Amino acid sequence: MLPLFCNHRPDYEQGMRIADPAPSSAIPPLAPARFAVILLAGGVGARAGLAVPKQAALLGGRPVLWWSLGALTAMPGLARLVVVGDDTVAGMVAEWRGAAALPPGVAIASAAPGASRQASVASGLAALADWPDVAPVLVHDSARPGVDGAVVARLLSALADGAAAAIPVVPLSDTLVRHAGGVAADTVARDGLGAVQTPQAFVCAALRRAHAAWGTAMATDDAQMVRALGEAVAVVAGDARLHKLTYASDLAILAALLVPAPPRRRMAVGSGYDVHRLVAGKPLWLGGLNIPHSHGLSGHSDADVALHAITDAILGALGDGDIGQHFPPTDPQWRGAASGQFLAFAAQRVRQAGGEISHIDLTIIAEAPKIGPHRAAMRARIAELIAIAPSRISIKATTTEGLGFAGRREGIAAQAMATLELMD
Ligand code: MG
Repeated sequence: MLPLFCNHRPDYEQGMRIADPAPSSAIPPLAPARFAVILLAGGVGARAGLAVPKQAALLGGRPVLWWSLGALTAMPGLARLVVVGDDTVAGMVAEWRGAAALPPGVAIASAAPGASRQASVASGLAALADWPDVAPVLVHDSARPGVDGAVVARLLSALADGAAAAIPVVPLSDTLVRHAGGVAADTVARDGLGAVQTPQAFVCAALRRAHAAWGTAMATDDAQMVRALGEAVAVVAGDARLHKLTYASDLAILAALLVPAPPRRRMAVGSGYDVHRLVAGKPLWLGGLNIPHSHGLSGHSDADVALHAITDAILGALGDGDIGQHFPPTDPQWRGAASGQFLAFAAQRVRQAGGEISHIDLTIIAEAPKIGPHRAAMRARIAELIAIAPSRISIKATTTEGLGFAGRREGIAAQAMATLELMD
């Protein structure tokens, strides 16, 4: 575990006020472990051309702002989160809090946005007036919903190593060119150039001093302001997943980067086949029904050959063994058992796997009894056992023209096909 995420609680959290840092230009040593975040959600995002402010745009079914809220509050070191935005943003935060459990020890506050980015950060800093000078503060743009713990760990590690600030940077892949009036001029060498992302991390005192010293000029980011103090800003590896939502087309890029693909559905077909011997003087159980007949089927359970074939077809489509594996004939508890429970078990295994039974096609091979008069009741009973509509069940019957064991009425055979929809 990274030392920055250790459970050590620094002095300032135990009620012991540590001494104020010396008012020199030296940045005080960093307190370990806990950090605060200023989350900027004040921009209207005019360039995105969206119907709503970009922090409210939906990404994977959730507002863009919610992605940062969820990721940041899941980080073990977070102590304070200040969301800078208008009343609409405050409403989005309240709605998120209604749907998410805030980890213990994390406090969330709101701050009003300013007229510029740096004014919004200053507003967030004001809401952290009691945050220790020596503790880290991250500034993050909610238009980058892909924030994760690895980048934050790298940033905090750079502060722990003594930097006043740290920024995530990704390499540039496109050729850079200066141009004017629709005409290209010099190509700019990419050596030593990188693109800066957020979150950016600061020792709180450095960020406060940078804002106090900056004045009214427009700053592109807070790292620029800290560097103007003469402080070194450390560069750590950024992450492609921190892609920024600037244009509407960025939503598709972010979705590809961040939104998990829905589980794929696939069709699976299984087959089952079973035979049981006919003996005189036994009740005949077939397709879940007790059918009046001179002979009944012999076996360890009730020997319902049709339900056994369907059970094996379903287990086959699931790749989940066979009926004998789940209900061994050597186990006395299945002696005389009603086979409907075997079939219901197989259907339950499908549901447990997130799948469903699309179709069952059963063929009963017997000289007698006639299946036709019992077809509707059998269909209804099987539908009930596996909890699907009777329209998804087909029941057919055939003879073997007097040939073989079935033709000699020594036994009944059944074969079944089961078609399942399964989740990968
Ligand atoms: Mg059997």
